[in-house]
Amino acid sequence: MARLVMKFGGTSVATVERIKNVARHVKREVDAGHDVAVVVSAMSGKTNELVGWVKDAGANPAANHEFINIHDQSEYDVVVASGEQVTSGLLAVTLNAMGIPARSWQGWQIPIMTSDAHGSARIQDVNGAKLIEGFETRREVAVVSGFQGVHEPTGRISTLGRGGSDTSAVAIAAAIKAERCDIYTDVDGVYTTDPRIVPRARRLDKVSFEEMLEMASLGSKVLQVRSVEIAMTQRVPTYVRSSFDDPAAPNPGTLICDEEDIMEKEVVTGIAYSKDEAQITLRRVADKPGVASAIFGPLADANINVDMIIQVVSDDETTTDITFTVPTADFERAKTILSGLVDKIGYAKMTGSTDVVKVSAIGVGMRSHAGVAAKAFRALAEKGINIRAITTSEIKFSVLIDSAYTELAVRTLHSLYGLDKAA
Ligand code: ADP
Ligand code: ASP
Ligand code: MG
Repeated sequence: MARLVMKFGGTSVATVERIKNVARHVKREVDAGHDVAVVVSAMSGKTNELVGWVKDAGANPAANHEFINIHDQSEYDVVVASGEQVTSGLLAVTLNAMGIPARSWQGWQIPIMTSDAHGSARIQDVNGAKLIEGFETRREVAVVSGFQGVHEPTGRISTLGRGGSDTSAVAIAAAIKAERCDIYTDVDGVYTTDPRIVPRARRLDKVSFEEMLEMASLGSKVLQVRSVEIAMTQRVPTYVRSSFDDPAAPNPGTLICDEEDIMEKEVVTGIAYSKDEAQITLRRVADKPGVASAIFGPLADANINVDMIIQVVSDDETTTDITFTVPTADFERAKTILSGLVDKIGYAKMTGSTDVVKVSAIGVGMRSHAGVAAKAFRALAEKGINIRAITTSEIKFSVLIDSAYTELAVRTLHSLYGLDKAA
């Protein structure tokens, strides 16, 4: 008998019928004698609808759900956290109707304690005692609302950022010392790239924590980045699997595990892409000490994350062009800040584009193989794809290209590194 966490995403709980299907998966594990905590997302589309309502009601959203009025930030969380409350209650009712004792838990009742960064709060601690008491004294399934917690000093409801139910699930698994955390979604595992855009993507049996962390950070939305961080640091064996498999005999899915536990290591394991990038170029910036800090200091002060940076020395050797990327949501804010600094920085012109995408290749094998990125630059050039910026690090490289070429670039790199499944 083991303790398990089972998490079901929005598509898996999209209707009452699908919630009944989820209950059948839970029943299988309960019948096998396990203690189960289930974490649920809101029905698919619900969170978007709730966010829209908050905006319609007149909150003043800045980038990344940062509402200008501090009070509005916490009310945003009150509204958007409600989607998960509905599904946790519905699943508990469904399980009870099937004769399986169950009760719902909201983040504040457990409690799941978070920071006060409303809209993107970080989990600080989870108290698993009440869930464990429910297992031990009442043999009760705990149905937990994902995505939400509480900032205890203020007593206010918080949410963990989009896709945050994955993080709720892994954090709860760590808190109750679960043997496993199963993330059920609408695909049957982690693939070499998004199977929606590359039908020849292959399912991976195992993927290392480090690679999954990079894939998630670079745009593979199958897991929220923070959930992978917690799985890695708290050593939670985490699987990604499908809720659409037969509840009586589902496939195990993909295990996220230590690199040492993977026998066959590829040079490149996966390709990710992110449209959440905007490019800004400052032309003819004076090429002198202190200029980079005059540009990037104020952006950092405004909490704008700069990602890729390239500096090109121009022909006259006294000026330079600087190109960099910021999250799309911060594009307008970044431009406004830089417009205000035109005299201080001394640039001739600012241009920008949101029609760009960052395509990345990830693999621990890059540590020991040279020329992996160079091969990609050649292959992309052969397809006529212009590279606007490049970044590399130990186990990944990324290129910034026009978004019109997203699918072509992802497919090209996917084939180039031998990731396509046999036709
Ligand atoms: P949920 O609502 O269950 O949390 P998400 O939509 O957040 O589901 O995540 C699942 C989706 O992630 C899949 O439908 C798939 O299109 C996308 N995805 C992106 N990259 C990958 C990948 N490398 N492997 C599997 N799925 C991926
Ligand atoms: N419902 C939230 C969202 O759509 C959290 C989640 O699904 O993980 O972002
Ligand atoms: Mg998700």
